[in-house]
Amino acid sequence: MSIKENLKRISDTLPENVTLVAVSKTKPISAIEEAYAAGQRVFGENKVQEMVEKFEALPKDISWHLIGHLQKNKVKYIAPFVHLIHGIDSFSTLKEINKQAKKHDRIISCLLQVKIAEEETKFGFSIPEVRNILASKDLVELKNIAIKGFMGMASFTDNTKQIANEFQTLKSFFDEFQLQILSMGMSGDYKIAIKNGSTMVRVGSSIFGTRNL
Ligand SMILES: *Cc1c(COP(=O)(O)O)cnc(C)c1O
Repeated sequence: MSIKENLKRISDTLPENVTLVAVSKTKPISAIEEAYAAGQRVFGENKVQEMVEKFEALPKDISWHLIGHLQKNKVKYIAPFVHLIHGIDSFSTLKEINKQAKKHDRIISCLLQVKIAEEETKFGFSIPEVRNILASKDLVELKNIAIKGFMGMASFTDNTKQIANEFQTLKSFFDEFQLQILSMGMSGDYKIAIKNGSTMVRVGSSIFGTRNL
């Protein structure tokens, strides 16, 4: 199936309140152009340099989402244009984003990455850590960032019950706050994520085909 057909098939199953982020990492400009021609405007990348190159080459009405781990020293490259940063996993990264956003007179939207998977994962906050951040006075001082919600990744498993439980955990936590965005769900589990309250899915291979890298 073509990129256009894949986008249509997926979009048709999404409730109106769910945003589709087309994850174009490792894929060529031509693939993004094909999705763009089909009406897609929100794209996700996980590498700063790759996102900058694609931003420069493509139409400026695209919303670029950084979905992977973000190193502090690279924030400056995306600060002029990034629309949403999904994978915040340290307070010092938030501080750096705030600093760079200020230079461009922007307010950058961010999602805190929360660990929900059973398996050991390198990145993300625990739920108590997120509570602390959201309650901290230091956060109030970061005027050039806006925490819009949370991002979570379920365990890499065939056990759909477990995946659903992990998404439910994050959804209940999300509901304690007045936040807008709950980013959960990838190609393999976005349907489960939507059933469990996701408002934003990050889908790559089901749109663009499998990645070789
Ligand atoms: C690559 C990636 C995705 C998309 O994965 P697919 O399985 O190809 O849909 C979603 N979220 C993050 C954080 C990713 O790195």
